[in-house]
Amino acid sequence: MLRLDGVTVRFDGHTALDAVDLEVADHEIVCVLGPSGSGKSTLLRVVAGLQHADAGRVLLSGRDQHGVPAHKRELGLMFQDHQLFPQRDVAGNVGFGLRMRGAGRAEQAAAVAELLDLVGLPGAQRREVPSLSGGEQQRVALARALAPSPRLLMLDEPLGQLDRALRERLVVELRALFRRLGTTVLAVTHDQGEAFALADRIVVMDGGRVAQAGTPLEVWRSPASEFVARFLGFEN
Ligand code: ATP
Ligand code: MG
Repeated sequence: MLRLDGVTVRFDGHTALDAVDLEVADHEIVCVLGPSGSGKSTLLRVVAGLQHADAGRVLLSGRDQHGVPAHKRELGLMFQDHQLFPQRDVAGNVGFGLRMRGAGRAEQAAAVAELLDLVGLPGAQRREVPSLSGGEQQRVALARALAPSPRLLMLDEPLGQLDRALRERLVVELRALFRRLGTTVLAVTHDQGEAFALADRIVVMDGGRVAQAGTPLEVWRSPASEFVARFLGFEN
């Protein structure tokens, strides 16, 4: 599905991504973990086509994305600051991407109803955004990202602003949902509990490099370096 070969991004001499190699298989859920500033969001932005790479290649389904604009990459995106449109109701938010693609009213309404069922908000079409709780808003943002049936869904701190109890519940629901839909997911978080609960594979970033990539069990059992062990909170 997705492959990065030696992707490097520099900002004024600072290397945000340093020759990153990464693969995400079809239907796989990969979580990127790492401290603040380690390059997690930059990684998603490069794949999305919102950030230029100074070196390396991004391939989607085997095709080099060099020169392919963001809106042609067929990706679902949910960013750290997932702003919903406050002046539109839930249906207006979730249907946004469908409208952009020229879907008719009936098609939109059916798709929105189905998506709201999927994220556990059946019948919420006419709710106003400010009346929704933080968790409900996050579900609406997720439904909006899923609406165009992206081949790759990228999430940046999808549960960022929620309390621990809600995160723990949502993460289990999300994993089941992605499995059911067969969605390929690349998700960024700095919460390791979230990553271990959600992911088939974990990528730990350190200073723009991949410090380790492996299944949760592999990373848990044998951290590849002292950095990874420390980051995961294992003192020895
Ligand atoms: P966080 O967990 O805080 O969201 P992150 O891992 O997502 O961090 P990035 O946002 O990818 O980190 O940033 C990686 C590095 O690149 C940081 O040092 C950041 O300051 C720098 N950086 C990111 N975007 C830009 C930009 N547009 N211009 C200059 N520097 C940038
Ligand atoms: Mg970030």
